[in-house]
Amino acid sequence: MEKVVIVGTGCAGLTAAIYTARANLNPLVLTGVMPGGLLTTTSIVENYPGFPEGIDGYELMTRMQKQAERFGARVKFATLDAANFSNKVILLTVDGEPLETETLIIASGAGHRHLGLENEHLLEKKGVTYCATCDGALPAFRNQPLVVVGGGDSACEEATYLTRFGSIVYLIHRRDSLRASKIMAERTLSNPKIKPIWDSEVMDVLDVKQDKVTGVCVKNVKTGTESVLSCAGVFVAIGHVPNTQIFKGLVDMDENGYIRPTRGTETNVPGVFVAGDCSDHVYRQAITAAGLGCAAAIDAERYLAGLSK
Ligand code: NAP
Repeated sequence: MEKVVIVGTGCAGLTAAIYTARANLNPLVLTGVMPGGLLTTTSIVENYPGFPEGIDGYELMTRMQKQAERFGARVKFATLDAANFSNKVILLTVDGEPLETETLIIASGAGHRHLGLENEHLLEKKGVTYCATCDGALPAFRNQPLVVVGGGDSACEEATYLTRFGSIVYLIHRRDSLRASKIMAERTLSNPKIKPIWDSEVMDVLDVKQDKVTGVCVKNVKTGTESVLSCAGVFVAIGHVPNTQIFKGLVDMDENGYIRPTRGTETNVPGVFVAGDCSDHVYRQAITAAGLGCAAAIDAERYLAGLSK
């Protein structure tokens, strides 16, 4: 029987791992399919305290994992298949094998939101992507017009990064102003290689027949005018959805699938705690996820101390 199992190795999961490991709870940490979480797909993280020059997202997560392992956390490349909270102990199925634990910290993060277009799906990895850092440098995108969809910090970050590779970057946003932070918005809009396309929605991605992206159909939501914009790549950066499907019906969630803590990081299930982007749709920062991971570790430690009394 494990004392603590942590699902997720983003900022929340690895911080929970550091704290529970230092409390001698010997945590088992499951990476899931994306070790290090979404931050590993970011280039430079400029707002994590302690790194005045910024730090590469992948490096930050690698350091966090090393720090957790230094204190005895066991990080396992494995995926949670199922969970059962109906008994006194928490029953998990991990890569097909049963696993029992006294506490569970859910830090499963969030994934990229999709536009929901049929051809977006059919052309994924054939020009449609959700990560400029991962795919931007591909030969197919070099010196070609590229499209970024969205108006938040992610879209601005993606667009700015892509100016290194594309001939021009169209930033398509459904409103006439960016949601992004002021500094990010200013940096983006003053970049001569970025051309904003305001008040516009992507209605379709072309061209499935050619098995690659050749353009997007765009509709101006104010005038209703539709047009085709030629491009070699579509980078979708319209936010995130929580990775909580596996816990549906097992713990309290809101209508968008974010797990609803009851008190601190406690969920409605005794022994099950939650931290990071899978429960937080307001702040969604590396530092807030890390803070919540710390809180979940302390809550789990206190819960275990209460059990042993
Ligand atoms: P976000 O702030 O939620 O922005 C999502 C954007 O996508 C919004 O502009 C939204 O439009 C648009 N959108 C949503 N659904 C859409 C749809 N179906 N079709 C077209 N457009 C759609 O998400 P984010 O940019 O990923 O940022 C998430 C959090 O991470 C934020 O707190 C952000 O500050 C943070 N972040 C920070 C950094 C950094 O500091 N380096 C980098 C990336 C992200 P509306 O504006 O009309 O709602």
